[in-house]
Amino acid sequence: MQKPAFTEAFTEITQTAPIERGLHGERSKCLQRLIRLGLPVPRTVALPFETVRRVASGQLPDLKALIDVFGDGRLLSIRPSPGSAEWGGPSAMLNIGMTDDVYAKLCKGIGVEKASILYLGFIQAFAVDIAHLDPETFDTGDGVPGPAMIEAQKQAYADEADEPFPDTAEAQLSMVLRSMARAWEGTSARLLRQAQGAPEDAGLGLAVQEMALGIGRSESGSGVIQFVSSATGMPQITGRYLAQAQGRDAVAGGEGALYLTKDPRGRSLEEHAPDVFEALVHMGEVCRTRLREEMQIEFTIEAGRLAVLDAVRIPRSSRAAVTIAVALARDAIISKDEAILRISPPSLNELLHRRVDPTAKRDVFATGIAASPGAATGRLVFTAREAQAMASRDEPSILVRRETSPEDIRGMHAAVGILTERGGGTSHAAVIARGLGVPCVVGAQINLRRRARTLTASDGRVLKAGDMVTLDGAKGEILLGETPLLEPSMGDGFKTLMSWADEIGDIGVRANADTPEEARLARTFGASGIGLCRTEHMFFDETRLTVMREMIFADAAEDRDAALARLLPMQRDDFMRLFEIMEGQPVCIRLFDPPLHEFLPAEREGQRDLAEALGKPLSDITRRVEALSEFNPMLGLRGVRLGIYVPEIYEMQARAIFEATAALCKDGTHVVPEVMIPLVSAKREVEMVKGRIDAVAAAVRSETGADFDYTLGVMVETPRAALRAHEIAANAAFLSFGTNDLTQMTYGLSRDDAGRFMGAYVREGVFEEDPFQRMDLDGVGELVTLGAERGRQGRPDLVLSVCGEHAGDPAAIRFVREAGFNYVSCSPYRVPLARLAAAQLSAKPRKKR
Ligand code: PEP
Ligand code: MG
Repeated sequence: MQKPAFTEAFTEITQTAPIERGLHGERSKCLQRLIRLGLPVPRTVALPFETVRRVASGQLPDLKALIDVFGDGRLLSIRPSPGSAEWGGPSAMLNIGMTDDVYAKLCKGIGVEKASILYLGFIQAFAVDIAHLDPETFDTGDGVPGPAMIEAQKQAYADEADEPFPDTAEAQLSMVLRSMARAWEGTSARLLRQAQGAPEDAGLGLAVQEMALGIGRSESGSGVIQFVSSATGMPQITGRYLAQAQGRDAVAGGEGALYLTKDPRGRSLEEHAPDVFEALVHMGEVCRTRLREEMQIEFTIEAGRLAVLDAVRIPRSSRAAVTIAVALARDAIISKDEAILRISPPSLNELLHRRVDPTAKRDVFATGIAASPGAATGRLVFTAREAQAMASRDEPSILVRRETSPEDIRGMHAAVGILTERGGGTSHAAVIARGLGVPCVVGAQINLRRRARTLTASDGRVLKAGDMVTLDGAKGEILLGETPLLEPSMGDGFKTLMSWADEIGDIGVRANADTPEEARLARTFGASGIGLCRTEHMFFDETRLTVMREMIFADAAEDRDAALARLLPMQRDDFMRLFEIMEGQPVCIRLFDPPLHEFLPAEREGQRDLAEALGKPLSDITRRVEALSEFNPMLGLRGVRLGIYVPEIYEMQARAIFEATAALCKDGTHVVPEVMIPLVSAKREVEMVKGRIDAVAAAVRSETGADFDYTLGVMVETPRAALRAHEIAANAAFLSFGTNDLTQMTYGLSRDDAGRFMGAYVREGVFEEDPFQRMDLDGVGELVTLGAERGRQGRPDLVLSVCGEHAGDPAAIRFVREAGFNYVSCSPYRVPLARLAAAQLSAKPRKKR
């Protein structure tokens, strides 16, 4: 038995009708706004989500009543109206209600040929989209549109569908509604919209509208217009108008389509129908000021009369989104806060890095963890040396390694992209690549054979050295060949948006920067200082590396002191340059952190070179390398432990920092360096290091006569440091949470090995996200808040910060801001993103009217 029809299941959209986005969808709500603005929108009825849900389960609304809203014999269109335009929905269906009677009347009104074209188009769309019949059957070829062809098409429909073509508006409407409602419930539609962030129970509304025909005896047609460029956001009228056409046919820009503004390439609407053009421009302005958005307007001209069928937010690149938001705020249409809130922080990556053209064909060879955004094309090289050689010939290379080590640094600088088989989001390759701003994919499924110099994908395809690939660091994909890339462009609005962000934000954003280039980048991107200078990165220059290795190889204390004495002026110069570049902004210098063996060559060839350079037998070198090797180097002799075990290294670094400070102070530049001790787990470690550093400071003060200050802080990277923060803080002016190591140690999960199984872990839902990419707010987060609270108990004026890779993640920034942190510090390229994310936390959203 058929379920009863129900009434009041739809609402005509008028200025005052109770239309809500949450009930009727975004399109219906937007149409109401257009009606309120006085735009000539044809009569429209909104079907709410609930009605469409009922239709899907077989319960139709009162169709006669629905048709009566428009009056008998009117043609109707139906468009989807989901909660957000991004969630898709079935395609629009036009000309519903086209029956033999209506056709006969239309023939009189607009002529047989035009009426026949409409009818044939309707039969075809209905057969294919609603009845799901074979499109080929309804291909009319070159025949003459007229009654005979219509009859033939209806017969074809009857043959294929086993029932006659529906010849009442009611019958057509019921089939269209059912088809659209069920399509929305289908699995593929569900998955597609969920990928766009739609909730599980997202509903579909429908907008039923009286057709403005766009086909007729006098000026009729349809088109689309927008007033700013989707690519740049700058003012530019674009779109097309096609006479005697319906729907979005004009957009295809085929034969006969007119440009909108005067154009040397062909005729334009501005010349052809200046009144209509002017009216459209006016409507664009009304939409912009009253809807507070740049809209794309879909319009129809019916016998000279303009109708607005629909308007949607113009599609836009990230760059355009920034330009549009800034222009709207400058024109006082929206507030600065709202402009800030309209831009998603990760979208700024598109403004700062190259990216793969979204329209390009992608031949994905393998995937991995997206460790550093951007995209680059180059030839595969398997060693850092080859990357350097390629760079010297100006040829771009993608450096592939099983995992990178400090030895690879120079090659990493030379390559345009970095790919590793192992590693995770905070492994060496990922951290360095983010600092350099080059794309990087780690933990990739590439089965690297170093000897054969090949990569093998899971489908068996093989790449060899010299092959051209494109690395997509944003998606974590290796693409075969040269894929078209889009250049980054910050656009005009970027700087302005960022300056507004800084006015609003109330948590500082510093940069992790180790070299003068990175410090300059940090300034360019508006960092308020350096929050982490990893000093070990300063030793990878070829000349310094040799001295460093001499120091490591020294058997006697005098030899070690001699090597350190040679390193001292180099380090002093490093710090002077950083202080100069940062011009009085704070610079936080972390004392030496990695295990010493990282400075020794792991491979035979490098060991032979070193033996030569040091004038020692190769066996000495290999023995030393073996002696320094540890089962768990990340848990071994590194960080503060090295500072205590070989105190001369920290003393040399402290001296270099203070001598640089003293020199600049004498020149009148005010510098207060921040010195930071890594990998602390006990208060005694801090006491011991502090004692020595204070002594070095006192010595430099008395030697130079300069009176300078400095602060000493501690990195919280071990769970114990967080737990004992109150006693550690007694000797520390600041605590900086190194969430890379803290995550590693909290999970007991190697940051360099996690990549191998992290994909599977996330896919299987064991972890919601890779904790090296997204801060684990529950576990690691609890240690962070606990450490902060206990630290403040020990010292109420304690300065708190995060300098692990998570510091650029908006969710982590929110978390630590709530915990009262003073600043975050992330790689320079993430600084703008972090500044925007920080500002969004204090920006005030617009009050709903
Ligand atoms: C950290 O551990 O979070 C950190 C910033 O230090 P690194 O990445 O150099 O170990
Ligand atoms: Mg660390």
